[in-house]
Amino acid sequence: MLSQNDIRQAAHANGFEDVGFTTAEPFESHREFLQGRQAEYGWAAAVGLELMQGTDPRAIMPTAQSIIILMEVYFREAYPRVMEGHFGRCYLDDDRITKDGLARRIKAFRSHLRDHGIDSKVPFNLPHRVAAARAGMGTFGKNCLFYSNRVARHSSWVLPIAVVVDHPFTPGTPTIEMGCPDWCRNACIAACPTRALKGDGTIDPRRCISFLTYFGEGLTPRDLREPMGLYIYGCDRCQNVCPRNAAWLAADLPLNQKVVQKTPDFDLAALLAMDAPYFENRVWPHMFYMATDDLWRWKMNVARAMGNTRDRRYVPELARALESSGDDRVRAMAAWALGRVGGETARQALQGFKVNKNELLQEEVRLAIEAAADAGSR
Ligand code: SF4
Ligand code: SF4
Repeated sequence: MLSQNDIRQAAHANGFEDVGFTTAEPFESHREFLQGRQAEYGWAAAVGLELMQGTDPRAIMPTAQSIIILMEVYFREAYPRVMEGHFGRCYLDDDRITKDGLARRIKAFRSHLRDHGIDSKVPFNLPHRVAAARAGMGTFGKNCLFYSNRVARHSSWVLPIAVVVDHPFTPGTPTIEMGCPDWCRNACIAACPTRALKGDGTIDPRRCISFLTYFGEGLTPRDLREPMGLYIYGCDRCQNVCPRNAAWLAADLPLNQKVVQKTPDFDLAALLAMDAPYFENRVWPHMFYMATDDLWRWKMNVARAMGNTRDRRYVPELARALESSGDDRVRAMAAWALGRVGGETARQALQGFKVNKNELLQEEVRLAIEAAADAGSR
């Protein structure tokens, strides 16, 4: 049978920077937390995430005795700035669909366990950050993220992977606590543009830009369009401003070539014009929380981001979307974005908009013409 040290060596051999152990006891406090916040986390069940079931490892694997936590540093290499500006870093090299990176390493690690008589499961709904803190591998931040105690210069750019096993191991000493220094003046809470962070170490996920970009319903309300800024899928703002992350952000990292190669596919103009085959072949395999039916939301987010760049080079694409998109939510956001970018060409595109029976869209165009005039005069 493998010793704890053998497991550590196998984890390191498969590229995991840190490894820890905890028991398979239920995560009672997390269950109570979820029970008390049904209104905020009810959406998870609607999209198939059985978070409540994940709080009991033995409901996932009846023979479970321990949980091994593998720590992946997902920001080990740098990403092109243009990608970081629009997409959360944790999605830039996400191989949950392509299974050509991290998934292979997890599989190799599990094969090693199996070869030595240890059965395992990697449940997606287990509270992996709480499990990692229970294993003593890190603490929490007031931005609700997990910070490593040992790797990536103690930053939050880590992804704990919980592997439930049918073998007992000596658990680590828990560090389930807030690790923020007293001198930090809650930079994350002040920086959150949509006030999703409540200040007591909890978050209203429904107000978080990440959630809004992939699950937001309908046309993004006007009061959220500027705060949501340039983000199209995900948001890293509360991590970027955090002093606990400064040391890693200052590190000189090699560029992730895999992400460099796919960067042209994520060009904003290409995304705004994409059809279903483009989305399914080039975008969805990497960012898959939205299905083809949600293409309108992708495009609406792209139009909003274009508007918030204030860059007039996007006017032709936005004018085309306003004129010919088959979805009024995309057209409305294209109108808003033209108004925000401003300038004579944007104004002409808005004024040339043909009467549409959708009154909300008409109103968006009217307001955008006013905004374009303001933007043009500055
Ligand atoms: S990810 Fe963005 S929107 Fe969500 S809590 Fe952090 S700063 Fe706020
Ligand atoms: S910004 Fe400050 S309060 Fe927020 S997580 Fe970082 S250290 Fe903690």
